[in-house]
Amino acid sequence: MTRHVSFIGLGSNLGESGDQLAQALIRLNQLPGTTLLAQSGLYRSAPVGYLDQPDFVNAVAKISTTLMPQVLLAALLQIERECGRERTFANAPRTLDLDVLLYDDRQIHEHGLTVPHPQMHRRAFVLLPLLDIEPDCVIPAVGSAREAMQGCLDQVLDRL
Ligand code: AMP
Repeated sequence: MTRHVSFIGLGSNLGESGDQLAQALIRLNQLPGTTLLAQSGLYRSAPVGYLDQPDFVNAVAKISTTLMPQVLLAALLQIERECGRERTFANAPRTLDLDVLLYDDRQIHEHGLTVPHPQMHRRAFVLLPLLDIEPDCVIPAVGSAREAMQGCLDQVLDRL
C-alpha cells in the first residue's frame, strides 16, 4: 500500500498537557499502517482568539501512514475523544486538539477537511515545532515554512 507523509499538530491547554501530548503521540504510532517518524519539542504558547483560557502546550509530529486523509482525520478525532477529556466529570472540556497540518504535498478541500490546515502558516506554535523536525518544509500554496515564521516573530513561545 502507498505510504504517505503527514504532519500532525498537537495542542492541549487543560489537565496535564505534557502527559496528554505524550499519550497522543503513543496513540498516533499505534494507528493502523502508521509509524511515528519524528516529534518536535514541546512549546508553551499564549491562547489566540478566545484569550480567557490557560496557555497551550503544542507540538508537531511527522508520521508515515497508509491511511487516506479522511480516515486519518477520523482516527485523530477518535484519539481526541479517547484521551482528550478531563477524567473528573462527564463531558468535561476537551483537553487535546489534533490537526492534519500537511499530507504529502496535497491540497485538500473536502467536507470537514482542509489541508494544508488553513491557519498553520500564521501560527508560531505550529511553525516553530514544525521547523524543529522539518527545517526545509514547504507548505503547498504558501511557500517555505521558515519564511512564514518570519511573519510570526511577534508571537511569544517558550520551549519547554
Ligand atoms: P477544532 O477542534 O477546532 O480543531 O476543529 C475540528 C474540526 O475541524 C474537525 O471536526 C474537522 O472536521 C475540521 N477540520 C477541517 N480541516 C481540518 C484539518 N486539517 N485538521 C483537523 N481538523 C480539520
